[in-house]
Amino acid sequence: MALYRDQGVVLRTHKLGEADRIITLFTAGHGRIRAVAKGIRRTKSRFGARLEPMSWVNGQFYEGRNLDIVTQVETAHRFEHLRTDPERLHRAAVMLESIEHTTQEGGPDRSIFNLLTGALRELDRTGNHSVLPAFVAKLLMLEGIQPQVDECVHCGRTEGITSINLHQGGVLCREHRSGQPISDEVRVALSLVFAGEVRKMLEQTDSRVADETELLAIQLLEQHLERRLKSAGVFRTAL
Ligand SMILES: [Zn+2]
Repeated sequence: MALYRDQGVVLRTHKLGEADRIITLFTAGHGRIRAVAKGIRRTKSRFGARLEPMSWVNGQFYEGRNLDIVTQVETAHRFEHLRTDPERLHRAAVMLESIEHTTQEGGPDRSIFNLLTGALRELDRTGNHSVLPAFVAKLLMLEGIQPQVDECVHCGRTEGITSINLHQGGVLCREHRSGQPISDEVRVALSLVFAGEVRKMLEQTDSRVADETELLAIQLLEQHLERRLKSAGVFRTAL
């Protein structure tokens, strides 16, 4: 069996047998992996609480036939506020779930790893409402998706835009509407996010529009993934 070291963020964990857990991580060098942490559910486990979802760790793994095995783990970066502030926690949970659904097991992708760790750090540090929309926009762009947000994708009309549909390639006027409704203010905010002008978006956007932009970003992600994100339920009920 081969031994390797890598750093990764824990996306989720589930129970295995009496005392073990399967840990799903997105790693810098090996992409998404699953590894067994043996004895982790025992009180005196040597892993402690270091392998909870959202933990960013350095680890040593044995390459197994089906599942790898975690042999050592240390905290690589400690997030100060992600778990204690429910708002940050919900946003981080959406990020973790979307990374799990956009990536394949064993496909190394440094840009995804950098996106995830960068967004989690920023969210931890600022708790700012633009982090999740910016994360979604970058994730979609890495997936090759950059919606047209300035004019109707069918007729080129710039007035009377009422909806957005990723499967159609962007926003649509009243006549051609499909997908999710979008207000003018949110469309402007979204176009700034997709242009990488996150700071400008924050300066120009009040908190109601920022919240709506955030919800729409989640809906766009769900359109793209063609599935509902479990962790996004709280955003739907809050708005
Ligand atoms: Zn149109």
